[in-house]
Amino acid sequence: MKYHMRRTEREMTDPGQLRGVLQGCKYVSLALCRENEPYIVTMNYGYDEAENALYLHCAQEGLKLEFIAQNPAVCGTAIEDRGYLHGECAHAFRSVVFWGELHAVEELEEKKHAMQVMLDHLENDPDRVREEQLKTDKAYERVVILRLDMHEITGKEGR
Ligand SMILES: Cc1cc2nc3c(=O)[nH]c(=O)nc-3n(C[C@H](O)[C@H](O)[C@H](O)COP(=O)(O)OP(=O)(O)OC[C@H]3O[C@@H](n4cnc5c(N)ncnc54)[C@H](O)[C@@H]3O)c2cc1C
Repeated sequence: MKYHMRRTEREMTDPGQLRGVLQGCKYVSLALCRENEPYIVTMNYGYDEAENALYLHCAQEGLKLEFIAQNPAVCGTAIEDRGYLHGECAHAFRSVVFWGELHAVEELEEKKHAMQVMLDHLENDPDRVREEQLKTDKAYERVVILRLDMHEITGKEGR
């Protein structure tokens, strides 16, 4: 059952605004869980608007990959930090919370697409970075790429 937001006047429901937060942020914090053990990890991402998915990249081993292998379910947040409002006991922000599943991308063509999405999202000069660091298909073997398919997203705005 969906839990409704308490401060409904702050809720962002316009899909354009929700997309705007994901387009503008550079990293997400992802909550993972295995058995009864929680873990949170922060990662850069690229937003694939057409697929409603995030692409992320990481090293070939590590704790987060062990969590995902046991349970691909994830909840995450991206925050557009507009700064603390001194004297108002408040913080200006726009943020989203999303739920989805995280899976490793295995196929070369999707890995290339994912890297392009990430470079376009994160870099000022994506073509230069791709030419320097992803010269050959072999370069894609070294990097683990994750795809986060979002199935629900909520948004909130604070002043
Ligand atoms: C803004 C930002 C962007 C990042 N972008 C990426 C990215 O795109 N890809 C990527 O792989 N990583 C990124 N990182 C680093 C990421 O948060 C993890 O540190 C890293 O991915 C290793 O995670 P792991 O689960 O494999 O940890 P492991 O190397 O397996 O280590 C696990 C242990 O280290 C601790 N630990 C892990 N990460 C952190 C941390 N950030 N701070 C404090 N303790 C930590 C855990 O609590 C645990 O005890 C980013 C971090 C920040 C802050």
